[in-house]
Amino acid sequence: MKINVMSQEDNKMKFLIEGTTPSFINTIRRISTVEVPTMAIEEVAFTKNSSVLYDEMLALRLGLVPLSTDLKTYKKPADCKCEGKGCNACQAKLTLSAKGPCIVYSGELKSKDPKVKPVIEDIPIVKLAENQELKLTATAVLGTGKEHSKWTTGLMVFQGYPEIKIVSGKHKDAAEIAAVCPRKVLEVKDGAVKVANLEACNLCRACQEKSPEVITVNGSTENFIVTMESWGQLSPKEILMESISIMTDKLKEFNKLIK
Ligand SMILES: [Zn+2]
Repeated sequence: MKINVMSQEDNKMKFLIEGTTPSFINTIRRISTVEVPTMAIEEVAFTKNSSVLYDEMLALRLGLVPLSTDLKTYKKPADCKCEGKGCNACQAKLTLSAKGPCIVYSGELKSKDPKVKPVIEDIPIVKLAENQELKLTATAVLGTGKEHSKWTTGLMVFQGYPEIKIVSGKHKDAAEIAAVCPRKVLEVKDGAVKVANLEACNLCRACQEKSPEVITVNGSTENFIVTMESWGQLSPKEILMESISIMTDKLKEFNKLIK
């Protein structure tokens, strides 16, 4: 198997995996989105809330704020030595205090641990009118997307590497075939359709439908383009590494059970 990074931004990574199977990539995809743990607010203690939203509604909104996650320091409450009672190794505390008139944003959540804080600072939580007040302490814990979608890490999608076959020679309606591609994969050169940008192809087959006798498009079943987009709690690379370690643990467990 070969892996090649095609592009990398803060929260998005695209890479090419060669010499594998769709089921292997799909296993990684499933683990990466719903089994890799992230931090999210699980409990909120309100000392004051005179806003128009009731406590449960605000707690739900706060739970959905992505928090930066430190997997080295924190453990899931069930795996912690405190046995789920709650301690510094499995919980992070955040506080929020605001007085209207104003809009309260996610960035106003103040964390005791600088490693656990809102990734996006301008998510509106609630609008406070004159004299309305909000004061709360929130507890964030590690969890997985399998338990609640607030803990999902992001999104991973994959497609077979595009394989485009074009009949050689000049093509009568070359310009029309090239123009039908929404991603500008094709170009016209000397009256013939040519591939200009193969990796931009997402296998929509609009060109093939336009002219099946000239062009055929297929996705490889061995080589794949994988796109991983994180919601920001962990970097795409961290999500991938963690997924592989979770899969390895599962296989070890399986091996032990079979023996
Ligand atoms: Zn603990």
